[in-house]
Amino acid sequence: MPESRIVLKNCEKINPGELPSYRQAGGFLAWDRCLKRMTREQVIQVIKDSHLLGRGGAGFSCGLKWELARKEEGDEKYLIGNAAEGEPGTFKDHYLLSHDPFLLLEGMIIAAYAVGAVKAILFLRGEYHSLVKGLEQAIQQVKEAGFLDHTDIRIVQGSGGYICGEETALLESLEGRRGEPRYKPPFPPETGLFGKPTVINNVETLANIPQIIVKGPEWFCSLGTEKSKGTKVFSLSGDVEHPGVYEVLMGTPLREVVENLAGARDIQAVQVGGASGRILPASLLDTPLAYEYVLGSGAIMVYNQERDLLDLLLQNIRFINGESCGKCTPCREGTEVLKEIFGRWNSGDGREEDMPALEVLSRTMRLASFCGLGQTAPTPIMDSLTYFKKAFDQRLEQSRYLRTLTMVK
Ligand code: SF4
Repeated sequence: MPESRIVLKNCEKINPGELPSYRQAGGFLAWDRCLKRMTREQVIQVIKDSHLLGRGGAGFSCGLKWELARKEEGDEKYLIGNAAEGEPGTFKDHYLLSHDPFLLLEGMIIAAYAVGAVKAILFLRGEYHSLVKGLEQAIQQVKEAGFLDHTDIRIVQGSGGYICGEETALLESLEGRRGEPRYKPPFPPETGLFGKPTVINNVETLANIPQIIVKGPEWFCSLGTEKSKGTKVFSLSGDVEHPGVYEVLMGTPLREVVENLAGARDIQAVQVGGASGRILPASLLDTPLAYEYVLGSGAIMVYNQERDLLDLLLQNIRFINGESCGKCTPCREGTEVLKEIFGRWNSGDGREEDMPALEVLSRTMRLASFCGLGQTAPTPIMDSLTYFKKAFDQRLEQSRYLRTLTMVK
């Protein structure tokens, strides 16, 4: 099955630095239609009818989010494009921002119009500083063409915290405080940036908007599965022949992407969704990529048979532990303990009692952590205990042998 490009349709076909090139490819037709023929409410209804779900990972209805913010009182509302792409193995937003920045800007302009936001912010991952100049030039061109008469767009660079991809931590960071998630409710569409109604949409979500407006919600609903409409963009990396960014219809089997598109062979495991994403064995490669099965924010990492899975788990947990904001105990202390256990296992000191401890700790973190980072951190561990128990048993055997040798000495 080939790629189905909606979001990436212009990538490597147009000149990303020239607005006329984007317009020749149909750019700003959607905004023109919104402005001349649609009320804000009609735009929101189209997006609601399309069943577009947020592509950042949480999968909340985009149209519903817009409607909640639209219904709030007051003139001061904000639209934020979330480009804080910090998940290990994810680089799809970077690709889109560098190859088709005008598509994102058009999506932001339409979203801001729909919710009544006169200020829009593109929150850009701190490490993506090389993109700033090109994005600023794109904003300037859009402004000179008169497309920013209703909205002001500016870029704010993040400070490098992974947790700032979480929308309330992002708001804290924008307000000049330490990036930590807020209590919810209230949710950002009610009380967001500086206490004002705020819509935060992921880059890929916003990039879907122009085509839904032009082609209609029925067209979008005809793509994908019952609960997951449209396409999904993935960043493929790891043990593959062709790493890169691919866009496929929702519901496409994982095998199509990793084997047929990216050329992976001799697969031991595939991790979908970054450091805290699911780890699936080769026997589950026919799992469809969709919200109802497995999806995440867009990272797919392939591990071949030569990879040491327990070492990979240690790398994952080291990353999560380093990025835990420390606000809640289950995540702050839980990731510390997980790091200690996997550190011991990887240095040949695995213990039988670690196995039930890992299960209890994983369940506790999932239930009691304050935000998604801590809640999902144990996911690859729980998957590995289910699908790769043999790797744990073998390491345990090696540890016993090493301890015996030490005693003999
Ligand atoms: Fe912070 Fe982790 Fe708790 Fe989230 S789960 S609030 S990242 S300590």
